[in-house]
Amino acid sequence: MVNIAWAARLMVMMGGLAAAGGCVQDGVGGGHQMGGQTGSPAGGHSHLRHYQAADTDAPWLAKAGDLHGHLGPWVVVGAMIGRDAIERLNTDGQWEIEVICWMPQAKQRPPFTCILDGLQASSGATMGKRNIRMDDGPAITETGEPVVHVVHKRADGTVDAGVVYEMAPVLADILARSSPDRIEAIAREIAGHPPDELFVIRSMTAEELTRTRLDPTGSTGRARTHSRSLWSVFGPGFSVERFGRHLPFS
Ligand SMILES: [Zn+2]
Repeated sequence: MVNIAWAARLMVMMGGLAAAGGCVQDGVGGGHQMGGQTGSPAGGHSHLRHYQAADTDAPWLAKAGDLHGHLGPWVVVGAMIGRDAIERLNTDGQWEIEVICWMPQAKQRPPFTCILDGLQASSGATMGKRNIRMDDGPAITETGEPVVHVVHKRADGTVDAGVVYEMAPVLADILARSSPDRIEAIAREIAGHPPDELFVIRSMTAEELTRTRLDPTGSTGRARTHSRSLWSVFGPGFSVERFGRHLPFS
């Protein structure tokens, strides 16, 4: 259910990006929004600026900017969280972590979702490896801001530790000063702060670690888990082929 919803959202997002030729910066929420409906001339979003590294940009910042295509506040937020998390968890990231970005429904669109590209660029958890995902957890995001969980996976796929990142007032104050002509400046200002000023950072509780529902075997394993849960509901004789047309949700 979650996977399907996420795939649908991703397709919508990609469609929006294709239509806009990128993220359109308008300052809403400190960044940009999906465009394409407002009739901008082809190739001419006047305030869209592709990323060009400044001499003062650290390599991690340049990497995030290159991947995402421009430098905005939320891609920097994601990059800083991923970087800080793998350091705290004493890992190189990549296959050894799982990242869950808990995002309120109302913010499941750019510029807020740009946080995902920053997380991927810095932590090595990627959509392709299926170890980063966005989910809506109303109880977790009750402040209305995204919350990021980064967990460390042992070689056997079990979890031994995790870190939680919530947005701190300092970050909110910086984002509130964002405007269309200051997107990059605000992004670089954020990059200049130590992570523990921008975020409330703490270890995950045992209950939170359980809630990540890690899937050590990857995407095929996730499907199998789903089948197994159907099995437990409908019994061992269940198969979609056999009972599919009788399912109440078909
Ligand atoms: Zn962006």
